[in-house]
Amino acid sequence: MNVTPDIVIIGSGVGGSTVAAGLAASGAQILILEAGDHIADLPVNRDQRAIFQRGHFRPKETWYEADGKGFNPGNYYNVGGNSKFYGAVLSRYRKEDFGILKHREGVSPAWPFPYEVLEPWYSRAERMYKVRGTLGEDPTEPHHSLGYEYPPVPDEAPIADVRARLKRKGLHPSSLPLGIDIDTWLAKAKTPWDAHPNSKDGKMDAETAALSIAMRHPNVALQTNSRAVRLETGQGGKIEKVVYVRDGQTLSVAPKIVILSAGAVQSSALLLRSASDRYRNGLANSSDQVGRNFMNHNASAVIGVSPTFRNTSIYQKTFAFNDFYLSDGDGGFPLGNVQLLGRVSAEILKGSLPSAPEWLLNLVTGHAIDFYAMSEDIPNPESRVMVDGDRVILQWQRTNWTAHLALVAKLKQILKSIGFPIVLARAFDKRTPSHQCGTIRIGNDPASAPLDVYCRSYDHSNLFVVDASFLPTSAAVNPALTVASQALRVADHIASQDLSFSRIQQD
Ligand SMILES: Cc1cc2nc3c(=O)[nH]c(=O)nc-3n(C[C@H](O)[C@H](O)[C@H](O)COP(=O)(O)OP(=O)(O)OC[C@H]3O[C@@H](n4cnc5c(N)ncnc54)[C@H](O)[C@@H]3O)c2cc1C
Repeated sequence: MNVTPDIVIIGSGVGGSTVAAGLAASGAQILILEAGDHIADLPVNRDQRAIFQRGHFRPKETWYEADGKGFNPGNYYNVGGNSKFYGAVLSRYRKEDFGILKHREGVSPAWPFPYEVLEPWYSRAERMYKVRGTLGEDPTEPHHSLGYEYPPVPDEAPIADVRARLKRKGLHPSSLPLGIDIDTWLAKAKTPWDAHPNSKDGKMDAETAALSIAMRHPNVALQTNSRAVRLETGQGGKIEKVVYVRDGQTLSVAPKIVILSAGAVQSSALLLRSASDRYRNGLANSSDQVGRNFMNHNASAVIGVSPTFRNTSIYQKTFAFNDFYLSDGDGGFPLGNVQLLGRVSAEILKGSLPSAPEWLLNLVTGHAIDFYAMSEDIPNPESRVMVDGDRVILQWQRTNWTAHLALVAKLKQILKSIGFPIVLARAFDKRTPSHQCGTIRIGNDPASAPLDVYCRSYDHSNLFVVDASFLPTSAAVNPALTVASQALRVADHIASQDLSFSRIQQD
């Protein structure tokens, strides 16, 4: 690897690893700087008391609210980023998500391009992440030019029973598109995979599905424990230097192209921290939108309990329904998506209810079915990431909360009607920024968006931001596949244009 690589990618999560996989065959010298290390293959990876009660994997990090109150966010720093812990639900945004969608509490704006533009890369990303699923079950499903290569993960018997009950009510449960090899996962230990770290145990995450492809090429190098702290500009406003810290040492590298993929909070914080005399607002920020429009889905766990239902399933997370995605079912506004959660055990539940004895929680969870209700959060410039020196300040202003409450109420009603008389619900808050996005959005107008449609900064011609920051809307589906698809699209764009430009300069 050259000391001056062609491309430096900051972060090895879904955006960074997938763009690296897409660029690797170009022959460009690529250096990936990753703040964290590899997740080791240890028994603790499946120890639910360690994960959920003792927070074994949670970073020792504090973010702050605008009033100075600190909190510990579930944002993970390791090779593969948050995807090492993800539920591997790899859904496409709906076609309608790319257009204007009117919600109860505002309007979700149109993307700068329609669904059809991204569609071919959705298909490629599904193949790269070995997504299992089936077409034709979900009425909101957009057109797929290629079907899924692998069949869906099968329902275990109690889950098949609940799916059938929902169907009898006229709903349309559909198999979740999942990046998981369930046999390999269960061979290690009989646990669900949601929020459990993956060390090559069958979860298709950014490391196992994308980085592994990139690393087959000798022109790609990964440097772990290397945290980018600042970008510096040179002539013509180009990014000249990436300054990073490794083992307490401050180092720098001067690539031709920088791809920032540190996640929606950390990428925007890095640009804001890189303010200089010339760029007082931070880098890539002539629109004043960097850090703004922070979104994180409105999401709740909704648990139905019935003394006559026995849930013996291990992994549970196999179907979703979108019957209230585009409308509330009565011609009203969209409410969102409902999908199963990874199976909630007594050990997991005790993490949220520490004073409850595990034997009691065991009794409850043995008779429960666990859902995840998710509603769109709409971009709002006052919902934002800011920095104060090294501090990250997250001022999340939820939008569309009444639609979410309506979705949860609807789900409660449905669960009661299919035989679960007790239904408990709990919303996820800022400590779970899993679906963070929107802070450095793409758009056609440099006055209102920091990035063009290929995630290139309008202000710095050799800077790209390829992670969940670029998403102009959050929709109400899990974000990772859309991030990966756009990453492949951007990689093709860079390989066809900017790289040759960089090589000419090199010569
Ligand atoms: C528990 C959990 C469950 C989830 N389930 C799902 C799901 O089922 N489906 C779905 O679509 N999404 C899911 N998500 C969200 C999904 O993981 C993210 O949307 C996705 O990982 C975002 O990709 P990214 O590239 O933006 O950031 P990340 O994947 O988080 O990657 C950012 C990377 O940058 C590194 N980094 C950060 N700062 C620096 C720095 N200064 N210098 C160098 N490196 C840095 C980080 O260590 C990390 O590796 C889940 C997330 C969590 C936490």
